[in-house]
Amino acid sequence: MTRPRDPAAERRWRPDTQAVRGGLARSPLGETSEALHLTSGFVYDSAQEAADAFAGESDHHRYTRAGNPTLDVLEERLALLEGAEAARTTASGMAAVFNALASLVRTGDRIVASRALFGSCHEILTTILPRFGVTCDLVDGHDLGQWEAALATPATAVFLETPSNPMLDLVDLTAVCELAHAAGARVVVDNIVATPVLQRPLELGADVVVYSTTKHMDGHGRTLGGAVLGSAAYVEAELNPLLQHTGPTMSPFTAWVVLKGLETLRMRVERMAAAALELAAWLEGQPGVTAVRHPWLPSHPQHDLARAQMSGGGTLVTVELAGGRAAAFALLDALRLIDVSNNLGDSRTLAVHPATTTHLRIGAEERARTGISEGVVRLSVGLEDVDDLREDLADALAAPSGSGHDA
Ligand SMILES: *Cc1c(COP(=O)(O)O)cnc(C)c1O
Repeated sequence: MTRPRDPAAERRWRPDTQAVRGGLARSPLGETSEALHLTSGFVYDSAQEAADAFAGESDHHRYTRAGNPTLDVLEERLALLEGAEAARTTASGMAAVFNALASLVRTGDRIVASRALFGSCHEILTTILPRFGVTCDLVDGHDLGQWEAALATPATAVFLETPSNPMLDLVDLTAVCELAHAAGARVVVDNIVATPVLQRPLELGADVVVYSTTKHMDGHGRTLGGAVLGSAAYVEAELNPLLQHTGPTMSPFTAWVVLKGLETLRMRVERMAAAALELAAWLEGQPGVTAVRHPWLPSHPQHDLARAQMSGGGTLVTVELAGGRAAAFALLDALRLIDVSNNLGDSRTLAVHPATTTHLRIGAEERARTGISEGVVRLSVGLEDVDDLREDLADALAAPSGSGHDA
């Protein structure tokens, strides 16, 4: 006999306990670790049992697109860690973003969003949703005056990313949520950069939170996945029908991998954020570096806001080099330990040139407006020894522009 779950007790557990045990529903076999239910469908003991399941009169699973026991464990654990009533998983972070927005808007509706967005989020708001008659106005997220002006007109949804990737600009969540609600809008926060370890948007007034589990939650660069979290009423009435009938379902295998990642999420994020801050402070004094961005650096223009709404500055560090694209490429090409890669939240430290990769498609004008110059390099700091990372960066910064790996 395995011990039955006690969901009320799980809600009272502290986050570290929730991270390793939350949602764990063991099968009658009593396995220690979460079971991987890698199955598309489910069988019934009788025709009546199938009929009851489809009539909603039992909680027997029917089909993985509508629900799966391994996905259930991950969704329960994510909700616990976020302090959300409910969560649903998706096949990628972008599926989470798109479905969160699509669940809220109809033709003729208006979205207000912060301009500093992940490239594909920008594409959804400015190209894909407008095809369905949903308009979007972009504001500079760090400028409350612009939010006030935009939300003086009614809106259905507000979408924002804080801290933003890659410039790490912040949005004042409490203030913007108040303005949004007064305008009749619900607030969707992309909390991917901060993680639930460092920022809890629902407690600051947000209505829906979205994640790419691909990033810190998997944490080891293996799987692609996403999640949407919010109230039970929202998830049941608005999100579930869309997910069930359009089918951006996370694989149970991915859920099982992410469950393992969540067990160490806090340890990894805190350690990576401490290393990121140490490297950021050191980078501020380096020759050729004109600016360093990390929310926990006192030089960050919104440092006080960061301290107020986050519990740590995060795992990303963004530097601007005096020599523009040539200096950025020279730095990336001279790295011997840190990899050139556009992922983030991995246990390995990764570096990328956003203007020519992740933020190529938003165009030069939007890049200029969000501060993504040709000299910007983004680091996602991993779990290596910080002294090895500093030495790699010091050697690469000292390499003359134009000398690459093969030089
Ligand atoms: C990675 C990322 C996404 C998209 O997630 P995928 O899992 O790659 O689809 C969206 N927003 C931000 C801020 C991201 O970093």
